[in-house]
Amino acid sequence: MTIDEDTDWVQRLQQTLKGKVLTSPENRAAYAYDGTWGEAWPDAVVLAHSTEDVAAVLRIADEERVPVVPRGAASGLSGGSVPERGGIALSLTPMRKIFEISPEDLVAVVQPGVVNLDLQKAAEPYGLFYPPDPASLDISTIGGNIAENAGGPRCLKYGVTSDYVLGLEVVIPGGEVLRLGGRSIKNVTGYDLVHLFVGSEGTLGVVTEAILKLLPRPPARATVSAFFDNLDVAAETVVKVVTSGILPLTTELLDKVSIGVVEDFLHLGLPRNAEAMLLISVDGEPESVKRQAEEVAEICRRQGATGVSLADTPEEEEKLWKARRSVSPALGRLRPHKLGEDIAVPRSKVPDMVRRVQEIGRKWGLVIPVYGHIGDGNLHPTLACDRRDPEEMKRVEGAAEDIFKAAIELGGTLSGEHGIGMLKRDYIPLALPDNVVTRMKAIKQVFDPHGIMNPGKVFPE
Ligand SMILES: Cc1cc2nc3c(=O)[nH]c(=O)nc-3n(C[C@H](O)[C@H](O)[C@H](O)COP(=O)(O)OP(=O)(O)OC[C@H]3O[C@@H](n4cnc5c(N)ncnc54)[C@H](O)[C@@H]3O)c2cc1C
Repeated sequence: MTIDEDTDWVQRLQQTLKGKVLTSPENRAAYAYDGTWGEAWPDAVVLAHSTEDVAAVLRIADEERVPVVPRGAASGLSGGSVPERGGIALSLTPMRKIFEISPEDLVAVVQPGVVNLDLQKAAEPYGLFYPPDPASLDISTIGGNIAENAGGPRCLKYGVTSDYVLGLEVVIPGGEVLRLGGRSIKNVTGYDLVHLFVGSEGTLGVVTEAILKLLPRPPARATVSAFFDNLDVAAETVVKVVTSGILPLTTELLDKVSIGVVEDFLHLGLPRNAEAMLLISVDGEPESVKRQAEEVAEICRRQGATGVSLADTPEEEEKLWKARRSVSPALGRLRPHKLGEDIAVPRSKVPDMVRRVQEIGRKWGLVIPVYGHIGDGNLHPTLACDRRDPEEMKRVEGAAEDIFKAAIELGGTLSGEHGIGMLKRDYIPLALPDNVVTRMKAIKQVFDPHGIMNPGKVFPE
């Protein structure tokens, strides 16, 4: 589809959504990207301010058979909000109202464009928090988090986004508004359509409101950091901690390359010769936090860790977490580009997976740093590369495919939290049997018979 201001559907949008439709090349270019290297211009951008706006877009688009690509902050790492087939980039970021924080029901009612961190800040005065905490929490939106079923460091203890979505308002193609679920904790009335929409990557409809579960904020927290001269032993240490009866808040791993780039970037005094760094946090009542943190430190020492230290003030903890949050941006120092992967394996298979990634790196002659939320088995092997070098990119493709195959062979999956989008759709047959894909496509057909919602995403061509 090419842009043409005279196109009937663009005119219909402009007449119905006055002042909310952008068609200039500058504006279309600004909505062509997400957090990957994918790029495709939409034909028009709509800035939705209300459920009615979204319903109008989905009515016109369905009648005119125009693709609609919902869009939050575009921090996605699987190409989900890239308008690959043109059409409408539907931005939900103007819908950023927090309607309610209810300490009685422990829920928040929000619009999809609310940034995750803004919800955290709004819950704080009530002594509450919203557990899903993607590392992108200061930019990514609740709508995008729901569509990707986002995770984050503390999901080991508290679960992922789907564990916190109680109710949704969604608009489906044709403009029909569905209200699903509600604000009660228990609800088994009919099929669970709420959780069908969570993780559906904008391929079924558009989330326009969410009822989210909140939890009381634990009063204390502490983080143990430890360095290992063997990456396998670090991975095994995490298994030892979680099988010791302690359920940590987070268990994050940085391998040698990740430690090195963070040190180059932040100059924190991290030991560059260490093969791995673990960050293990616990939260709860002050006494149990102290006891658990000491036990974690002891397990690390028994495993042969060096430089084991315990941070229990917000300042000390912040220093450590800054290191973890900086891995992704700091890896940019290695090579001009990177392909950040997101596989998940059963926790007991993490050491095997780490070993397999190292072998794959050697096989393809690539540097593949590994870091991630190791305690829940979700690793982010990152393929550092230069996209301008076609020969290197062939090796990157081969290595990525080997990583997916290894994860699946070890009983894991293609994506732990970033979704399939465009980046991994071709690998879906590795992970899902044909008959399952057929049923998934049949579900899409029910909500989106004309295939206008984020076409081309998730399923192989
Ligand atoms: C530095 C960095 C760190 C990250 N860390 C994490 C992490 O720790 N954990 C994690 O899970 N992810 C992480 N991500 C990935 C990304 O932030 C998440 O996938 C996030 O949920 C995307 O939210 P967004 O608002 O940016 O959505 P977008 O990228 O705009 O969209 C993502 C998908 O959601 C769909 N969508 C958006 N809004 C709606 C809506 N209202 N209704 C229906 N569909 C919608 C889009 O069509 C698209 O398919 C990280 C990304 C970056 C750049």
